[in-house]
Amino acid sequence: MSDVMDVEKMEGIRRGRRLLLIPLPLEGHINPMLELAHILHSKGFSISFIHIQYCTNSLNFTFSISSFPHGPLPLPQPSSDLLNFLTLLNTLALTPFRDCLAKLLSHDASSEDEEDQHPISCLISDAMCFFTQAVATSFGLPRIVLRTGAISSFLAFAAFPLLLQKRYLPIQECQLEKVVEELGPLRVKDLPVVNTNDPHKFYDLLRNFVHETVTSLGVIWNSFEALESSSLAKLTHQFPTPMYAIGPLHKYLQPSQMPHPHQSCISWLQQHAPKSVVYVSFGSIASISEADFLEIAWGLANCDHPFLWVVRPGMVRGCDWLEALPSGFLENLGGSGRGHIVKWAPQQQVLAHHCVGAFLTHNGWNSTMESICEGVPMICMPCFADQNVNARYVSHVWKVGLQLEKGVERGEIERSIRKVMEGKEIRERASILKEEARLCLQRGGSSYSSLQRLVTHIMSFNVYSPSH
Ligand code: UDP
Repeated sequence: MSDVMDVEKMEGIRRGRRLLLIPLPLEGHINPMLELAHILHSKGFSISFIHIQYCTNSLNFTFSISSFPHGPLPLPQPSSDLLNFLTLLNTLALTPFRDCLAKLLSHDASSEDEEDQHPISCLISDAMCFFTQAVATSFGLPRIVLRTGAISSFLAFAAFPLLLQKRYLPIQECQLEKVVEELGPLRVKDLPVVNTNDPHKFYDLLRNFVHETVTSLGVIWNSFEALESSSLAKLTHQFPTPMYAIGPLHKYLQPSQMPHPHQSCISWLQQHAPKSVVYVSFGSIASISEADFLEIAWGLANCDHPFLWVVRPGMVRGCDWLEALPSGFLENLGGSGRGHIVKWAPQQQVLAHHCVGAFLTHNGWNSTMESICEGVPMICMPCFADQNVNARYVSHVWKVGLQLEKGVERGEIERSIRKVMEGKEIRERASILKEEARLCLQRGGSSYSSLQRLVTHIMSFNVYSPSH
């Protein structure tokens, strides 16, 4: 029997099974979970997407359940205190989630959607929603997780007990440049910490997150083997949990499958020379000081390249939007429309545009993967947590970018942009990685095979029945 027929036969069997997917309600987590939903739907599963709606003031939770495919979901509010947000979410969401799951598992006969009636195979939870483990266990429902960050940063999170024991943590100023031997190439300053006056709360959160990830029935990674083979090998050596590196998730989809407003960016890009534009974005959560904002603005102004800059309202601490910029800043840059500032951009499309030549990024994992997949070299300006690890790998392992090492300073930004724009080696490395990201999804590629294994793994679960 041919491979294709094999696949078709399997999908015939699979149709009629339902998966419950629950993302962490933040942009950088909802997007990959939506992409995973599309991928598994295309493999014959029906999908119920459980979206946590929350109100930042009172942190009251309700769950709305939508069958998938569906329209775009509402964007969550970026949080100003991520650590507290995650801690509270994992405490307060437990009971409403239990109620929500009880309703779903009792087969909502009132639903008119045929797919809502399909028996449930398992729960796929964002790894940061570790409250889902206890609830899934209490119902006897298999749970696997999607980790939306890199494998390499997870290794660092998993090493926290050791890092504390060996006194790399808490971080001391005099040790910043010291290499962490157990986690090379990371230095102490690359460790994935957050700024907090309650580090024990952070360590507790990480302990739960790591434990409920590695005790799940499988971990799905938005990464691919050629990129993180050594970290994946270390992780599989440390933990027996089945691992599925099936990324880059966004590359399974045609761009037209995801909604993309803000098209004005694309027509602006169109006016510039190939590979000449610096794209600047710090993701959906990070905030920066007014002083750093101005250093970036002057670095961009002085580098002489056109730039497209995403400044989210509220991203500059203490400002509504752009009022910290000197008046006439954009108009005085010289050349018509050399700088374009927007509140949000269709990032995947922007990075795929032939006029973009470099990405000044905070190195959130999605942004890092999206840049790698388009062969766009990076200037790394990590802000917190796993972004530090990602930036170190980009600059020193994959060698597809340069990291701002002296803080946020206009001269260094200008020099780094020029170097990256003109650097032949970095550009060649970026092209090679881009090709590897493409190949891993082809038939026989590592992510293609991992996805097949994941589907087989899901099919090995008994469908849920209340008697479990
Ligand atoms: N993003 C976007 N437009 C923007 C800024 C960000 O579409 O103007 C998307 C980006 O493509 C990525 C996600 O938001 O998929 C941000 O995730 P990432 O992990 O890079 O950073 P986070 O927001 O979690 O810090």
